[in-house]
Amino acid sequence: MSRLKTLYRGRFAPSPTGPLHLGSLITALASYLDARHCGGQWLVRMEDLDPPREEPGAAASILRSLQCHGLFWDEEVLYQSTRAADYTSALTTLALDGLLFSCDCTRAILAPDGACLGQCRARQTDIRGPHALRVAVTRGCQIQFNDLLQGPQLSALGESLPDFVVQRKDGLYAYQLAVVVDDAAQGITHVVRGSDLLDSTPRQILLQQLLSYHTPHYCHLPVITTHQGQKFSKQNRAPALVDDDAAHNLRCALRFLQQREPPPALITAEQILAHAIKCWDLSRVPAAMAIPAATIGVDT
Ligand code: GLU
Repeated sequence: MSRLKTLYRGRFAPSPTGPLHLGSLITALASYLDARHCGGQWLVRMEDLDPPREEPGAAASILRSLQCHGLFWDEEVLYQSTRAADYTSALTTLALDGLLFSCDCTRAILAPDGACLGQCRARQTDIRGPHALRVAVTRGCQIQFNDLLQGPQLSALGESLPDFVVQRKDGLYAYQLAVVVDDAAQGITHVVRGSDLLDSTPRQILLQQLLSYHTPHYCHLPVITTHQGQKFSKQNRAPALVDDDAAHNLRCALRFLQQREPPPALITAEQILAHAIKCWDLSRVPAAMAIPAATIGVDT
């Protein structure tokens, strides 16, 4: 074992917007292998926070696919749709500390990056209609962290992503808030996920600091891209995985993660996983933001 057997709680947190595809299998597998190799626990959290974006049946289909691929989780699946009380309580804490403000800007008024251009903070008593809640990020706020794969990161959050939303105008809780509350509630120590979330991490670390939560270790994996350079995603119709091809799918994902190839005699998902857990080596995963699917022989 290359790393110390300390307390380790990892997680896979899919949004149920479609079935599991190769990109999400890669994330699930890497977070699973890193946890199991370190003797840790691996949890699944269903990020069903945004009903308009969800696809009926997707949550059940993702869970079935994980099981077909031998990826069995510890504890009960946590559904974000059941967690409103905790999100509200975190918002109350932030509000009592004077860290939130209401923003009723329409899309047309917001900056192209979604920032409120500064008028709302001064008009708080006038804002009575539908409004979003934003964290008041101080100018000059910088967040630093060391990504286990991508290396040292420094974000000038005060300039690049000011005053981000924690509750939307339609009342839905923002991903940034929910993920931080749930990572803390579940005692997550290691977050292994796609590099598309690397620029969300400074916002999450800031929220952890404001809420006095522990900051987990972060590891952002390269994402798999189509031949047009787009991330595999439900939005660009990445094909659903065929559960009956679990062993083949796992071999593809391991090739993408540049892990040692399981010997051909290993046929079942369980055999392949047992080998992969033993041999898991994070230092073999390329420290890249994206890798085309063609490099592992997958057609897109
Ligand atoms: N739910 C997010 C997704 O499916 C992942 C969130 C996370 O791992 O923090 O992309």
